[in-house]
This record gives sequence, structure tokens and C-alpha cells, in this order.
Amino acid sequence: MLYNSTQNKNEVVSAAQAIAQGISKDGGLFVPQEFPKYDEATLKALLKEDYRGRAKKVFSDFLTDFTEDEIDDCVTKAYTAEKFDGENPAPLAFTSLGGKELNILELWHGPTCAFKDMALQILPHLLTKSLKKTYDGKDAVILVATSGDTGKAALEGFKDVEHTKIIVFYPVNGVSPMQKHQMNTQEGGNVKVCAIEGNFDDAQTGVKRIFTTPEVAEKLAENNMLFSSANSINWGRLLPQIVYYISAYCDMVNEGKIAFGDKINVVVPTGNFGNILASYYASLMGLPINKFICASNANNVLTDFINTGVYDKNRQFFTTMSPSMDILVSSNLERLLYKLSGNDDKATNEWMTALKTVGKYEVSDDVKAVINDKFFGGYCDDAQTQATISKLFEDNNYLCDTHTAVAVNVYEQYVEKTGDNTPAVIASTASPYKFSKSVLQAVAPNAELPETEFDMVDKLNELTGMAVPAPLAGLKDKTARFSDVVKSEEMQDYVLKSLSIK
Ligand SMILES: *Cc1c(COP(=O)(O)O)cnc(C)c1O
Repeated sequence: MLYNSTQNKNEVVSAAQAIAQGISKDGGLFVPQEFPKYDEATLKALLKEDYRGRAKKVFSDFLTDFTEDEIDDCVTKAYTAEKFDGENPAPLAFTSLGGKELNILELWHGPTCAFKDMALQILPHLLTKSLKKTYDGKDAVILVATSGDTGKAALEGFKDVEHTKIIVFYPVNGVSPMQKHQMNTQEGGNVKVCAIEGNFDDAQTGVKRIFTTPEVAEKLAENNMLFSSANSINWGRLLPQIVYYISAYCDMVNEGKIAFGDKINVVVPTGNFGNILASYYASLMGLPINKFICASNANNVLTDFINTGVYDKNRQFFTTMSPSMDILVSSNLERLLYKLSGNDDKATNEWMTALKTVGKYEVSDDVKAVINDKFFGGYCDDAQTQATISKLFEDNNYLCDTHTAVAVNVYEQYVEKTGDNTPAVIASTASPYKFSKSVLQAVAPNAELPETEFDMVDKLNELTGMAVPAPLAGLKDKTARFSDVVKSEEMQDYVLKSLSIK
């Protein structure tokens, strides 16, 4: 299987190259030239497999330049029962709201308690093998600028992975105390964490500058290293997400929630459009999905796009209690538009260029028609988010985080509007304990709010009886390893020093 750029069909690469390179030279994203098709027999065979077996099948069909042993090694190292708190890394929880069944796909049982672990636990293994195939003998240096969650998930994924080093920069006053402590206590011999004086944009600009400074690249090359990226547009982060939709479908059948061949709806709390795109890709492979329900918070640029065909990022930016969805440019949407336009690289390039220059584009009528047919877009605000958390807990003792609550709320809106009773799988993207303050205020609006986040975790646990995930429970007793703070102009020096090549 080969991959090409969404903005230039003539740019064709192998899977290993797509993963090692991250983004195409023309600025486009790598997409598979075609999708493997799973017939009834293939899907039925997966019913009998566990998560790792299902993952191996999907990976081997997309990564045709990897050997079976290589894929086996990646999957086995990533999805262990120890790292994901049980045999199934992506289990379904069955609950209901107002008499309506909810099938919640819990994607947050990994080491950082958020769904990014599903991809970032395996990406480092895919990346080191890809680099070996394309740039043999070089060590990868991963630089990350983070506003919190991605940095921690990347650190956990790359920790002690051979032939990699990871350096994470975060804005000194731009992450929560819990996130700061999570990163500063990070274990591993190949990791570095550093705060910068400035905001997230300063961190991101600094990282981009280091990436594109030729002298730095030369110094790395002299020392057998090269920069690589763990960015959310990397194919190696998208592919692992296809697996859990296929796996959830199998589990729905095995649990007797649907009959084999029945359609499901999927509901996804969306930011960068990666998670929901993975479900769309699964449907292209033959997974019977009826509707893709795209849930947003007050930053509802995608809701408007799905309803009008006009993407317009020129609008107010809101800081919400579902911060991982506070996004105005959903990068992975580009991959959907490429597919829906019949692989039209010229049109995709025009839309993306318009987005960059005027912040706005309108897709063709053909693309609008498919979007109308297959997608539903909805959003809710913070008050509705908290009301949903509280209702779901009171109704059924099921506690969800703020992002998942947005999805549940939009799903209710969808059913109300359409009367569609197709069984729905709702992606749950974070543990409620990751957003303890907002969740606590939702279930106990009158309780006194404890001072520290650790105390809020304890209080939430006391009030709900729901177990605190081990990685969060253990955090309190860990001592910080990192305390460096640098100015953004000093980031390059910091990187070179950390790599001992200065
Ligand atoms: C990243 C993230 C999202 C958004 O996922 P996309 O793939 O970017 O759409 C939703 N919820 C949580 C908790 C996240 O960390």
C-alpha cells in the first residue's frame, strides 16, 4: 500500500516514509491511496480476536512494508494489560440516559488517562521501525510544544524507547498544576521537560524555529540524529484510532447489543478531527456505520461547517471546560475533504490555501451533499456540559469527563431532532479525574471546592465512589525531576545541551 499527499497526488511514499516524514513537503497530509476492504468473513474472524489481534490485522493491511514480526512487536509492546489497566485497552461501558441506551467506548485507560494514549503508546514503535527503514542508524529527536495533555502522553509513549529522545516544552503559566506535576515527574532515561517563559504559541513557534534551522539539523546529522514529529497529523497517530472502532463493533456484537451486520452510529467529541476521521476510515473499510455525529463545544466551527459547507475560522475563540476541543483549525478535516472530493488534490490545495490566507473556504456542492448525508454536527456550552455530567451520574451512577459529556449532550440533540434509534457508540476521551474541578462542580455544585487538584480528586472519589485511575492516584507521592525554565530565545541552546552536542 502506498500513500500520497492530499495536496499533490504525485507525491507518493511508503507507509514507513509517511510516518518518518510526518507531513508532505508540499504541506499536504499523507493518505492511503486506497482502503483495504473487510468482507463479512474478515470482520467475523475479528470477532474472535482480542484487541491486540484486531490491531495486528488492521496494521498489517495498512503497513505493507512492515514485516509481521515488526507489527507484532509494536502491538505487543504498546497495548499491554499493565499499561491499559486490563486486557481490553478500549472497553465499552453500557449505561443509559433518560431511558436511552448509551454504549460508551472508554478510550482513557492508558498511562495518562486520555485517549491520546491509544495512538501515542504505539507511535514511538512505529516511528523507530519506520526510521530504520528510511534513515537507518539515526536516532530520532522528538520536540513537542504542549499546552498540557499531548506532552504528557508523548512522554509516556517515548519513555525508554530505544533510538529516541524526547524534549517537551510547555508555557510556564499555561498548564494546570496537575499537568505540570504530571510532566515534571516523568520517568525515563531519554526524556527532558522544560518550561518556557511565554505562552503556548511562543513554545510552538520556538519548536518550529528549531526544526527549520539548518545549522541545528547539521549538528544533529553530525551526531547521527534527526528531528522527527509526534504531531497529530502523522499517519502513525491516525491509523491506531481506526482499530478501536472496529474493535468496538466486534464487542457490540459479542455482547449481544447488535446483530452482526447491523449498523451503528458513532458520536465523537471533536477537536482536530482525527478521532472522528478514523471512524469514517473504518466505514470505508466496510464497518457498518450509519451516521458520524460530530460534537463540539462553544468553539463550534465544525458544527457550522457541517451545516453550511463553509469553514470559517474568523470568529471568537472560547476557553471552555473541555480544553482539548478548544480549536479553530481542525487539521485532519483536510483528509476528509480530499476523500469526499474524489481525491481532488487541486481542490484540497485551494481550500487549504484559502484557510491559510483568508481563514475561510467553501466546499463544492458534491462534497456538501455527502457531508449532509453522512455527518451530523452539534455543539453545547459549558452549562449544558455540566448538566449532562450531573444527569448521567444521577440517572445511572456513570461518571464522565467534560469532553465525553459534550458528546452525550449532542447525541441527545441528534436523537431528539431525527428520532434515529440506531445503536450508538460514544467515544469517551478522558477520565473524569483528569478534569476533576469541572466534574466535581457538576455533581456537587454546592460542595466547598478543595484548594488543590489532588484534593479535588480525593473529594470526587469520596462523593462518587468511582475508582481513581492508578496513574493519577500515584502522582501525589512522586517527586519532580525537572524544574528548568528558559526564555523562548534559549530553547535552541537547551535542546543542543540536552542532546550533549554543544
Ligand atoms: C485530543 C482530544 C479530543 C479531540 O480529539 P481530535 O482527534 O483532536 O478530534 C477530545 N477529547 C480529549 C480529552 C482529547 O484529549
